[in-house]
Amino acid sequence: VSVLTNIELAPRDPILGLTEAYNADERATKVNLGVGVYTDENGKVPLLECVRRADELLASDRKPWGYLPIDGLKAYDDAVAELVFGDVVPRDRLAVVQGLGGTGGLKVAADFLHAADPSAPVLISDPSWENHKALFARAGFTVASYPYYDAATRSVNFAGMLDALKAADAGTVVILHACCHNPTGYDLTPEQWTQVRDVVVERGLVPLLDMAYQGFAESIEADGAAVRAFAEVGIPVFVTTSFSKTFSLYGERIGALSVVCSDADEAKRVLSQLKIVVRTTYSNPPTHGAQVVATVLGDPELRALWESELGAMRERIKAMRVGLRDGLVAAQPDADVDYIVSQNGMFSYSGLSKDQMVRLREEFGIYGLDSGRICVAALNESNLPAVVEAIAQVW
Ligand code: PLP
Repeated sequence: VSVLTNIELAPRDPILGLTEAYNADERATKVNLGVGVYTDENGKVPLLECVRRADELLASDRKPWGYLPIDGLKAYDDAVAELVFGDVVPRDRLAVVQGLGGTGGLKVAADFLHAADPSAPVLISDPSWENHKALFARAGFTVASYPYYDAATRSVNFAGMLDALKAADAGTVVILHACCHNPTGYDLTPEQWTQVRDVVVERGLVPLLDMAYQGFAESIEADGAAVRAFAEVGIPVFVTTSFSKTFSLYGERIGALSVVCSDADEAKRVLSQLKIVVRTTYSNPPTHGAQVVATVLGDPELRALWESELGAMRERIKAMRVGLRDGLVAAQPDADVDYIVSQNGMFSYSGLSKDQMVRLREEFGIYGLDSGRICVAALNESNLPAVVEAIAQVW
């Protein structure tokens, strides 16, 4: 008997498992709406022009690959602080560390928070990004959920959400999707955000806003409004950022964790502890993605180019939502599918049942999640007609 003898086979990652099934599917008409990746009108992950140019600039003055500081590239951390908080929080009240994507930022936050208060529970939305629960549980937390999606009304169960937050114990860590809720696509209104924030403040909860899609709903500014609303009030606020989607830098693993502190001394103490978490986990972050993002955000011309390319991705997703809605209405005139265009971001809770999702897969080679989640950012003019036709068939 060795240390490995009784190791159990872990279940496959459900989304990656779906991609494997998709890859093995030999039908030419297959469509992968499972994985959370934006693809362009040609079905390809884009290389943004701003990224290509930043990369060329970096290559033209190639520096040796030394280690970055534990908390990451300074120009990058400063650029994140500016992008996420604008002038709402002075830089010296923010503890910012570069992260390995949004997931890495969440993991550093989870380890830091668990060390700070081992008895605090975590609340996530029901449903949520599937990794939230596993990641916080792995860090030692008890993870429960607050109501979020209401299938009957195809909207947010806001009263249920607020009640759950009002009933939460002080110190509870509440994970909130800053915009483009994954998996449902339903976001809170600005008024609802204010109410949530006020309950969080009143109850002494610890907000963690996960922002993986800033700029995919309305604009960089509008999508950051919830974060800034929390940052304004003077309580500790945790914000994780991902540039995987917004810079199309998936494999570079580039993101961040920012913590809003009450003063510069607190920020210094918090940063020192975040650095301990990083140091004992992966020592220090990789260089290239941070240099690319810092170069783009730090150069007015490249930044303007990024904003226009980000806007083009957002508008393309919106156009695909309209195309899907219109196609479904054309197929079934009394269908009430306006919810597809009211949702934000890459995902849509399509309202389809598990049985219907299985039929889409088996009969039509269209791969979405059993929950009914489809990635509308993977639709394009070429695959949309087949997707509409197939959904109309399984309705
Ligand atoms: N948080 C949410 C809500 C997400 O949807 C995702 C990506 O799917 C992430 C975090 C993780 O992003 P990253 O790939 O940058 O780690």
